[in-house]
Amino acid sequence: MANYSKIAIIGAGVSGLAAVKQLRHHNPVVFEASDSIGGIWKSCSYNSTKLQSHRSDYEFTDFPWPNRDDPGFPSYTEILDYLESYAKHFDVFKCVRFNSKVVEVRFTGSLETTDSGGNLLPAGHPVWEVAVQTHNSNSIQRYGFEFLVVCTGKYGDVPIIPAFPNNKGPEVFEGQVLHSIDYCKLDKEAASQLLKDKKVAVVGFKKSAIDLAKECAESNQGPEGQPCTMIVRTTHWTVPHYRIWGLPFFMFYSTRFSQFLHGSPNQSLLRTLLCLLLSPLRRGVSKFIESYLLWKLPLLKYGLKPDHPFEEDYASCQMAIMPEGFFSEAEKGKIVFKRASKWWFWKGGLEFEDNTKLEADVVILCTGYDGKKKLKAFLPEPFQSLLEHPSGLLPLYRGTIHPLIPNMAFVGYIESVSNLHTAELRSIWLSRLIDDKFKLPSAEKMLEQTSKEMEVMKQSTRFYKRHCISTFSINHSDEICEEMGWNAWRKRNWLLEAFSPYGSKDYEDEK
Ligand SMILES: Cc1cc2nc3c(=O)[nH]c(=O)nc-3n(C[C@H](O)[C@H](O)[C@H](O)COP(=O)(O)OP(=O)(O)OC[C@H]3O[C@@H](n4cnc5c(N)ncnc54)[C@H](O)[C@@H]3O)c2cc1C
Repeated sequence: MANYSKIAIIGAGVSGLAAVKQLRHHNPVVFEASDSIGGIWKSCSYNSTKLQSHRSDYEFTDFPWPNRDDPGFPSYTEILDYLESYAKHFDVFKCVRFNSKVVEVRFTGSLETTDSGGNLLPAGHPVWEVAVQTHNSNSIQRYGFEFLVVCTGKYGDVPIIPAFPNNKGPEVFEGQVLHSIDYCKLDKEAASQLLKDKKVAVVGFKKSAIDLAKECAESNQGPEGQPCTMIVRTTHWTVPHYRIWGLPFFMFYSTRFSQFLHGSPNQSLLRTLLCLLLSPLRRGVSKFIESYLLWKLPLLKYGLKPDHPFEEDYASCQMAIMPEGFFSEAEKGKIVFKRASKWWFWKGGLEFEDNTKLEADVVILCTGYDGKKKLKAFLPEPFQSLLEHPSGLLPLYRGTIHPLIPNMAFVGYIESVSNLHTAELRSIWLSRLIDDKFKLPSAEKMLEQTSKEMEVMKQSTRFYKRHCISTFSINHSDEICEEMGWNAWRKRNWLLEAFSPYGSKDYEDEK
């Protein structure tokens, strides 16, 4: 029987906090590499970084924001304050060991005994040895645990740096090259000094690149100011706010009715047929949103209209909120765009496949992060290889359990519209699993379920590798609720059930 008493959680970002709160009756130990909670909100934020969703969508079920009806998007410092209050309120700081980086984990159990259901080994015996390096010492302490919860995050810590042909990398460039993770470490004054009156190239066109270009333009006002050039390979749809032709955005993707138009795993044949029949309506919704965005934002003027439908960006959790004033900086010539799929360095800047050159003093790579590399840094073989699935996705049952890795859970590796809510509900599920309130199915059944989910993601978007469940998030939560013995339908009546949006408040704990 499960009921593990020695549990370690790795990481104290949003996911680690959600996990420790739900598991606090076990007195888990949280190892956090940095000196604070908050994860990316502390380490990957610019001075202008804000949440992209309304605060009521990025909220723990039992801990409302103090000003939850404020329609503005909270700044990263407000998010950090909210997380700090949450940690204090539920007294979880006592579990966290700061400046404690997990450098290695070793499996010390036997894979033969799994009498607790699924891939779980019986409680009472430590099966993972965790090696922890503390900030101020080179010595490594080793601890034994019965269960590990990995919450090290998909972003931050390990930047992706593009590969370049010989003699065409950053080493030939006479200016300064940095990744957005380095830029995040600068305070307001240092960031402005880096960009002010400099020719800056920002590589990328996702949220971090867009926000950075805007900060760059703001530092380059006045006659001496230089334009910031965004190097854009793939454009993505951005939205200025959450109203489309006067209608609230949640109507399109966050209600049971709207998600009915999209495929979900385990759907009946009838539902599959209906989805097929209703696919013109689904595409119509996407076109309707695109028509608004093309009217509202000068995407055509700047050659920024994406080649793919809006719904593919939504289905891959890539839809970014366009910061206010971005296009007015473009109108002033402070932000310019260069479309290029291949580029490399020369001593004075960047060169492109069309043989044009761009002079630059500073090049900032907003090229993302390698969350898998972060995991591989401490996970041993043979488990490390299990992270590599042919689909490129991590096969996680309920977004949490790798069917072939025993006594280990992952929180924060699937994405949705609110990653806080996604992490919290899966932590509630995990806590009940650990408390033996239900059992996992067999590894084969879990793999079958993860394959079905991957298939849905693949059919929804070419960017499926981001492991996003946004178009079937309600179905995903339904299955989690059913497994926990909760009601899957959580609204007061069928009208609300069909047409009102699902959010964290709908999943308050059923004791
Ligand atoms: C700039 C930016 C903006 C975003 N905006 C939104 C948004 O608006 N809405 C939304 O839903 N999501 C957003 N996200 C996604 C965001 O990643 C999640 O919302 C959430 O904060 C992730 O939390 P996490 O705990 O899973 O990971 P992280 O925040 O990355 O936390 C991981 C923690 O683990 C620690 N750690 C890592 N490795 C080790 C180790 N070996 N040993 C010990 N500790 C370790 C790290 O120090 C860190 O504290 C954004 C992401 C970024 C980068």
